[in-house]
Amino acid sequence: MKEVLLSSPVFRMAAEQFDSTADFLNLPEAVRERCKWPKRLITVAVPVKMDSGQTEVFYAHRVQHHLSKGPTKGGLRYHPLVDLGEVAALAMWMSWKCALVHLPYGGGKGGIACDPTKMSLNELENLTRRFTQEMVPFMGPNIDVMAPDLGTNEQTMAWILDTYSTHVGHMVPSIVTGKPLVTSGSLGRREATGKGVVFLIGRALDFLKIPYVGSTAILQGFGNVGGVAAQILAAEGAKVIGVGDATGAVINRNGLDIPALTAYVQVNKGVKGFFGGDAIEPEELLIQPCDVLIPAALSMVIHEKNAGRLRCRILAEGANGPTTPAADRILEERGDVFVIPDVLCNSGGVIVSYFEWVQSLQQFFWTEKEVFSKLETLLDQSFREVMKFARDNQISHRRAALSLGVQNVAQAKQTLGLFP
Ligand code: NAD
Repeated sequence: MKEVLLSSPVFRMAAEQFDSTADFLNLPEAVRERCKWPKRLITVAVPVKMDSGQTEVFYAHRVQHHLSKGPTKGGLRYHPLVDLGEVAALAMWMSWKCALVHLPYGGGKGGIACDPTKMSLNELENLTRRFTQEMVPFMGPNIDVMAPDLGTNEQTMAWILDTYSTHVGHMVPSIVTGKPLVTSGSLGRREATGKGVVFLIGRALDFLKIPYVGSTAILQGFGNVGGVAAQILAAEGAKVIGVGDATGAVINRNGLDIPALTAYVQVNKGVKGFFGGDAIEPEELLIQPCDVLIPAALSMVIHEKNAGRLRCRILAEGANGPTTPAADRILEERGDVFVIPDVLCNSGGVIVSYFEWVQSLQQFFWTEKEVFSKLETLLDQSFREVMKFARDNQISHRRAALSLGVQNVAQAKQTLGLFP
């Protein structure tokens, strides 16, 4: 199993980050092993009747990284390149993230190797329902709770909720988060990750004494995370000067018209060809001068070859694992880029997922104001804790954030004993 995981570059990267954090924390060997390797790996074959009448078999993975603090929690991703190693890496990062922001969860993640952009709604529904059926023995509101991620959305969660509830015999809204409001979703969940990213950018700008209004931002990814972050930044007076997505990238140094770009992307399914900016090569976009660079799409996009060429003051990691360890070393050496590491930066999503889970369990719902105020309280506390730990130990923000998360899980395991 270890060999399979280690054959994935993304898992190797998560493992390297973990090893170096565990070295820093001087974690004893026994607890180190138990923290690093996933508790459960599930792979299922999902046969789906396609619109053509043919049956296609898709492979789906779910990794439940550790069960020492509560159910596992994490997104479900639909992407052609999904593999078990990537899912395991993402589950591991979820563990550190949940522990860092004080949520009673272990990390979970799932993925189905498919191209959702080439599938009809009917095919996506068939795939999701059949996957859920295969997963029934391994999921539950107190076992494993899924949420949207790359290529999935509220509708995907509604299909999972309906399929699972049909199996159980009554509605179980706490089985997923990121579901539509009409099915006991939470106000603010859709915007939560982007909102959290922007809140933390605000804290970093304050720290660097850069005025928020007029500050410039570039985003890679214009979906749930990047799209919402861009809308809030623009609405609050920052200038979003560049946006890239799977179709291409556009730049306008005077600021892109984000409402117009949002409307354009809805119709054209991507930023390519947007009239309000100039086309730019996606790799070039990342190295343009700006105050804030927000990778909000894929892993490993800031690497050895471009880390030295970044011209941002703040790197706000909306995506999971956008920066490789080699790039991290370069950024640490440079010392002029304020990194908001992914486990902190995009934690708004899982924080409000937690709020949604709590509301679903209690069938008692909060106002949007309550949700966002509680979100900001937790983010603010975690931001302060990371900054203090980094300052006290003279280490990078990433090492500080990972150390706080890993240390918390390790302490729980050491206190509980061998069972979980
Ligand atoms: P999404 O599917 O809504 O949007 C993804 C965006 O990335 C799209 O704009 C897409 O065009 C773009 N993209 C895809 N391939 C690309 C490529 N090769 N180059 C440039 N852009 C590309 O997904 P999302 O929910 O916004 O998630 C984005 C990232 O944020 C992922 O890494 C995800 O794991 C992470 N994340 C999401 C949440 C959440 O609540 N949605 C929470 C935490 C972390």
